[in-house]
Amino acid sequence: MSEGRLAGKRILGVFAHPDDESYTMGGCIARYSAEGCAVTMLTFTRGEAGQIGGGSDATKETLGQVREAELREACRTLGCADVRVVGTPDGGTQNTEEGVQTIVDVIEELKPDLVITMEPGGVTRHPDHIAVSAMTRTAVERTCDKGYPRKLFFTAWPAAAFQAFMKLLADRDIQWISPDDPLYPQGAPDQTIAALVDVMPWIDTKRAALKAHVTQSDEIINWCPEDIFATSMGVESFQRMWPSKTAGEIPAEDLFEGIA
Ligand SMILES: [Zn+2]
Repeated sequence: MSEGRLAGKRILGVFAHPDDESYTMGGCIARYSAEGCAVTMLTFTRGEAGQIGGGSDATKETLGQVREAELREACRTLGCADVRVVGTPDGGTQNTEEGVQTIVDVIEELKPDLVITMEPGGVTRHPDHIAVSAMTRTAVERTCDKGYPRKLFFTAWPAAAFQAFMKLLADRDIQWISPDDPLYPQGAPDQTIAALVDVMPWIDTKRAALKAHVTQSDEIINWCPEDIFATSMGVESFQRMWPSKTAGEIPAEDLFEGIA
């Protein structure tokens, strides 16, 4: 039996691809696991359409398997031992009744206090992210009247924080993504943010989890200067869909605020 402030509490994260969990809420997984919370990760795809980098000897045929192992290692690093992979196609995950039911079944099994997925725009507008966010929202609509989860959060990149990140990169002449790119991140309106969690004490753990996604060597963690990474990824930001944020509500510093 785990100990700590959050012993007996549970978080369910629902994401499309291996590494989505670490970028968006890796610090929170590390923090809340350390405080005794059980964390389950439900990842829809194995990321088999992703990059094969980092010196990996993966092939197109084995990449899904390799990335599932990377996901499990990243989650283990963060303190999450329960990783479940649905196995929908990377780049072809649709919003389906079957997918919704998969999430409902896991929510009913675990009765998590918090369910966390990406915001409806999928942060980077990736169609798989958008589909998984929509399915998670539908699933929670079907279970929340039974008392679980207590809260549904959406990971988001606040517009001001995203612009600040882009400026820090530009100041050092680092090119990342063009505004014309279909996956150019979509900053969330700042007034929609319901929680800002300081994860600086866990930034090295978050970094290590991201590094465990070895094959994804073009991703932010591998080219972003360490200080910019810490400044930009040391706070994790969330919208709250259930119960919905009230106008004028001050962002919480803790996702468990108000949960006894
Ligand atoms: Zn993704």
